[in-house]
Amino acid sequence: MKIIYNKLLPTKGFVALNLFGVIFARKEYKPISDRTINHESIHTAQMREMLYLFFYIWYGIEWVVRLLQYKNKRDAYRNISFEKEAYLHDMDPVYLKHRKLYNWFRLV
Ligand SMILES: [Zn+2]
Repeated sequence: MKIIYNKLLPTKGFVALNLFGVIFARKEYKPISDRTINHESIHTAQMREMLYLFFYIWYGIEWVVRLLQYKNKRDAYRNISFEKEAYLHDMDPVYLKHRKLYNWFRLV
């Protein structure tokens, strides 16, 4: 997985951002942890099965729905189903070897 360290992406308060399978990480977090790499790899698997574009559309819509539900940006982010799957399994280094397709959908 390609990792690009930089000063701009993601915005402050976040460690890494996955854009179409490429990780952008803030320089101050170099090197990012294996857990973060695994987390972003789970997002890449989700993106592939959502044909990339639909991942971002779903992610954006669900974030708005969760924001209305939780009235808090951080809670909204943590309760997006893609994030729930990634945070639940990012400490399991072999999760992607046995992950079922669309597993995030069970967490909507
Ligand atoms: Zn995430």
